[in-house]
Amino acid sequence: MQYPEPIAKLIDSFMKLPGIGYKTATRLAFFTLDMEKDDVTEFAKALISAQRDLSFCSICGNITEDDPCDICQDPSRDQKAVLVVEDSKDVMSMEQMKEYHGLYHVLHGVLSPMDGKGPEDINIAALLTRLQKNEAIKEVIIATNATPEGEATAMYISRLVKSSGIKVTRLAHGLSVGSDIEYADQMTLYKAVEGRTEM
Ligand code: ZN
Repeated sequence: MQYPEPIAKLIDSFMKLPGIGYKTATRLAFFTLDMEKDDVTEFAKALISAQRDLSFCSICGNITEDDPCDICQDPSRDQKAVLVVEDSKDVMSMEQMKEYHGLYHVLHGVLSPMDGKGPEDINIAALLTRLQKNEAIKEVIIATNATPEGEATAMYISRLVKSSGIKVTRLAHGLSVGSDIEYADQMTLYKAVEGRTEM
């Protein structure tokens, strides 16, 4: 027996999300059927709005409703430091820690030759242009994850940035190998920023 088309479509849609297989998608689809009508409407609206109303900051690449983003527009932030992260979720983790007050740069990925991802596929060129244009920036803190791809990306960026005479540091490895910034607790993140070392 096949499911009626509306639910089959819903299952297909859930399966497009990362980490969700057929079983989970089916469970979620049936759960949706039992939800309050208003909640379902809100859910559908949120999906559409998240994509329609957000864009990427033209300076740092973070997701934002306004361009430039709030952080890039905030004169009280420390304009001397730029912390480079893999994605916008890492910016959120750092901000929740509340101990870092500089600027950010979001790469939207890491170098990964296995997946055919080279320097032109992530937001590196914009970082270099930014450093050339903005003489206030004195330090680039690389906070890519402690994975082989994250390390390779850190080395690559470090070489490019150092040649322009700007100090490059890397988060200390309170973060264990293979760990993601996104999942690190705030104390670990704080220690990693405090104990950063020059590359
Ligand atoms: Zn920005």
